[in-house]
Amino acid sequence: MKIICIGRNYASHIEELQNERPTEPVVFMKPDSAVLLKQHPFVIPEFSQEIHHEIELIVKISKVGKHIDTKFAHKYYDEISVGIDFTARDVQDQLKGKGLPWEKAKSFDGSAVIGEFLPKKQFNSLENITFELTNNNKTVQKGNASLMLWKIDELISFVSEYFTLKIGDIVFTGTPEGVAVVKPEDVLEGFLEGNKLFSIKIK
Ligand code: ZN
Repeated sequence: MKIICIGRNYASHIEELQNERPTEPVVFMKPDSAVLLKQHPFVIPEFSQEIHHEIELIVKISKVGKHIDTKFAHKYYDEISVGIDFTARDVQDQLKGKGLPWEKAKSFDGSAVIGEFLPKKQFNSLENITFELTNNNKTVQKGNASLMLWKIDELISFVSEYFTLKIGDIVFTGTPEGVAVVKPEDVLEGFLEGNKLFSIKIK
């Protein structure tokens, strides 16, 4: 199983990090070893002083596909959830500065939180779905899929030009504004349309 992630998919988050607006989706990957095991806390790694939370809508691929047309992309996933793309921002800033790949900042053990999946047919429209991250019961990030620069189906089509999508692969679709540092004892909870789909303790 692989995790395909999209960066810079919300204008508001591009602005907060003062990044350039991309002309096509920014893509990176996390290996299966990045998945935070269920019921485990997230342990802040020693190599970073600045781990940021990034809540994102995620979908699980349900059918093998390559060169998927946007108009058929909806046939390749049945379930949706929210996850966290934990990012060592200090490490990423160094790598970005040197034009180096982001894996050390984005793909380390535990960096992918995957919420419980819900059937997508439970929701009226995935193009106008809201999600939220709370930290110690306070809302820290709030997003709506309508604000994505590229919609879920466009992202699936785009990444399938490069990578064969396999059953069980997960696509992280980018984070809205509000990314911030986490510290020990924080409790992060992710919601999709009010449904709590994960709860993570930081250590
Ligand atoms: Zn992200």
